[in-house]
Amino acid sequence: MRWLLMVAWLACSLAYAQLDYKLQPRSIAEGVWLVEGSTDNFSVANGGAIVNVGFIVAEQGVIVIDSGTSKRYGEALRAAIGKVTDKPILKVILTHHHPDHAFGNQAFSDVPIAALKETTRLLAEQGEGMAENMYRLVGDWMRGTEVLLPTETIEPGAVEIGGRSLQLLALRGHTGADLAILDTKTGVLFAGDILFYQRALTTPNTPGLDVWLADLDQLQALPWKQIVPGHGPLTTNDAPFAQMRDYLGWLDGLLRNGAEQGAEMNELIRATIPERFAGVSLTRYELIRSVSHLYPRYESARMERVDQ
Ligand SMILES: [Zn+2]
Repeated sequence: MRWLLMVAWLACSLAYAQLDYKLQPRSIAEGVWLVEGSTDNFSVANGGAIVNVGFIVAEQGVIVIDSGTSKRYGEALRAAIGKVTDKPILKVILTHHHPDHAFGNQAFSDVPIAALKETTRLLAEQGEGMAENMYRLVGDWMRGTEVLLPTETIEPGAVEIGGRSLQLLALRGHTGADLAILDTKTGVLFAGDILFYQRALTTPNTPGLDVWLADLDQLQALPWKQIVPGHGPLTTNDAPFAQMRDYLGWLDGLLRNGAEQGAEMNELIRATIPERFAGVSLTRYELIRSVSHLYPRYESARMERVDQ
């Protein structure tokens, strides 16, 4: 009996030791590094490393853009940064409050963590619920993860951090508080989840697809040279903008027509997804979620119109 317990204990600790994110930052421009995530869904297999996280090695130190998906991810990110540079971490900037972007905060508790005011409010409001969900989706990888709120409010506009000038753009389409960050020196644009590329967008907090579409124009007008979407591959052209417009337009049309025709939710979640989105991962999964998030609004808007 005792040796059986021993074997079980060993197996558990070995499994835990193997929870290694193996983060591999790659240099994408002078001083700019990207840790590219998978375009899959959260799973026990990937530990939730489905997000693009970046960091900029400025003259006086490092600016981290998003902290990742768990305490363990944040620690792995910090260790990976340490292999690239000896410079201190100056600041973490969060693009928005979603768990895959902000749940690594604990690993940076000794430096300022900056976010839009509304991002902090949303994280305070939704953090516990999102954490529960993440424990369910990726299990042991989340061990020790707790919501740590940003410690600094950041305003949109031009800022200089550690000798690097950044342009910050406050948008709303994905969560109501979405920050895009342009590194002026290299033209690398960290778009956050305003841009998903080759991966279906997520809608639990969107104020509306029309708001999101309007954000795309503002974002595209920045003088970027490379785009880091929140999820999906790095690009040097405007393909992510084209795909987002196409996809948002299609989704909006589907929901609008559905409401006009009085379709049921379960008809819409089975709708044919156009062939041109075949290269976009998780379209069916996210369509099902988006219909449940958004369709009631389209239905009530339709009802209001009828009542007039
Ligand atoms: Zn997000």
